[in-house]
Amino acid sequence: MRYQRPMEQGPRLGGLDRRGWQRVRCGGCGLPEEGCVCATLPRLRPRTRVVVVMHHVEAIRSTNTGRLAARMLDGAEVRVRGLRDGVERAMPGGPRLVLFPHDDARELTADDAREGAVLVVPDGTWTQARRIVRRDPSARDATRVRLPTAVARETAYALRRNPHEGGVCTLEAIAAALDVLEGEGFGAPLREAFTAWQDAALRVRGTTPESHRHDDTA
Ligand SMILES: [Zn+2]
Repeated sequence: MRYQRPMEQGPRLGGLDRRGWQRVRCGGCGLPEEGCVCATLPRLRPRTRVVVVMHHVEAIRSTNTGRLAARMLDGAEVRVRGLRDGVERAMPGGPRLVLFPHDDARELTADDAREGAVLVVPDGTWTQARRIVRRDPSARDATRVRLPTAVARETAYALRRNPHEGGVCTLEAIAAALDVLEGEGFGAPLREAFTAWQDAALRVRGTTPESHRHDDTA
């Protein structure tokens, strides 16, 4: 296990141990290096381009799942909002959808899977995500869609107490949306990789997945 002083690494992917030292985290999966699961992640080729628009505070959290999802999807990208780099990259063309359970959002359907469709997924706390939907250029002019109500709202996410008000974390929301757009079962490898990632995260924290799950359901 490698550690380095926080200042050497900057604000990226936080996580201080008790002595105030920061574990060196993998830039891919966000896990401490000894728990890295990057080599085991599947690579999926959806027709839909997924664009995760992330609040800048969310971007430094090691428990972020939007980044993990994007890493497994061809054509996907993560955009961090609120960074003052002054560069506004153009959004990919094509019919644009924004996934958020807004009051005026309609249910996502298989008909939305048109050629070149872009699925914008806001990532952050509830409030941050709502702000992204309202203000971010990526969501402007996008059709507001929500997951079908038939989609199970049960989350397997144990690293945070309250992932999203809608019940699922960002990766689970993306997997469910791709089940609709790309065909039932398309999101399954994402969910499996997510489980492995989370188990590895719990293991490097010194919690076994089994004991954690037990605690969580008690
Ligand atoms: Zn990794």
